[in-house]
Amino acid sequence: MKIQIVRDVLEANDQLAGDIRNIAKKEGFTLVNIMSSPGSGKTTLLERLIPALTNKEIRTAVIEGDITTTADAERIARMNIPVAQINTESFGGDCHLGAEVILPALHQFDLNNLDLIFIENVGNLVCPAEFDTGANVNIVVISTTEGEDKPLKYPLMFRVCQIAVINKIDLLPHLRFDIQILEENIRKINPMMKIVSCSAQTGEGFDQLTKLVIAKR
Ligand code: MG
Ligand code: ZN
Repeated sequence: MKIQIVRDVLEANDQLAGDIRNIAKKEGFTLVNIMSSPGSGKTTLLERLIPALTNKEIRTAVIEGDITTTADAERIARMNIPVAQINTESFGGDCHLGAEVILPALHQFDLNNLDLIFIENVGNLVCPAEFDTGANVNIVVISTTEGEDKPLKYPLMFRVCQIAVINKIDLLPHLRFDIQILEENIRKINPMMKIVSCSAQTGEGFDQLTKLVIAKR
């Protein structure tokens, strides 16, 4: 019985995700889903990336997913772009965003006037990978403080993403962390993955990341 219920939930989600991709095509925007464990620097990354995109006249908006708090949405709103906050606490504290919550969030925006919409998913390397949000591009952020083994321990996350961002490279001198081993582990799981190393703190690597994101449009 339980297995059937899980399958139904995922099937309903996949159907909605397909609807979202149709809307994106019709309205002419690209939906980019950013996933990572908590504290890897997703919000700080967006604070770097969005001004770089605005400079290139790419119009962005962000859907912020958190169990509770609006702190990240407030940071994004300071960049004067549209932001929608989803707090999952009100419907059970989900640790991921499903297509059913993305769809109404999208309708808060003037979709006609947007080129790129980011989803900052709930910080979690497990179930955000299982639920298709309807995104056109999936990005995983992994920071240098998390250990080289994460792609092997959370393979689905690295399988569903097209871009892996290795963040916090400014900390490398202080860590026993081998970035080469991390890259090898990412490629073991997903040989096609585009990998970019950066520091959202210093801005290093953001030219490459900006180009990569623009290329996915
Ligand atoms: Mg955040
Ligand atoms: Zn979850």
